[in-house]
Amino acid sequence: MQTNGLPPYDDGNIFARILRGEIPAKKLAEDAHALAFHDIAPQAPVHVLVIPKGPWVSAADFHAGASAEAIAGFWRMVAGVARDLGLEESGYRLLSNIGADGGQEVPHFHVHIFGGRRLGRMVPLVSGP
Ligand code: AMP
Repeated sequence: MQTNGLPPYDDGNIFARILRGEIPAKKLAEDAHALAFHDIAPQAPVHVLVIPKGPWVSAADFHAGASAEAIAGFWRMVAGVARDLGLEESGYRLLSNIGADGGQEVPHFHVHIFGGRRLGRMVPLVSGP
């Protein structure tokens, strides 16, 4: 797998361990391609993570290396979980942190779903570059 400048996939990362069933997660949905579960430290009334099942660090290597079926299945789960949580009417936010500037803590590609309150600015204002 290519990781486009990010470190190679680390099979010991916490989401890989969740996928192998080595540590528990509060699962919302699972199929052959993806898993959705509640974030352990929620930053909004709804805070869910959706991860593809393959060993991908970033959006770039996921979309370059995964099958079209896996990519479609992943995004279908993202949208379906948001809908099933009742977020369509009130709205919600999808977010993916990639690499150092993105603040990615877990090196397994994932999308956050935030909802349940007004979420404020998309990116905090900071001074400097
Ligand atoms: P990111 O900065 O995008 O890599 O975010 C990683 C997210 O994973 C954070 O929001 C963490 O709270 C969350 N997280 C870390 N460990 C777990 C876990 N065991 N179960 C559920 N969520 C987790």
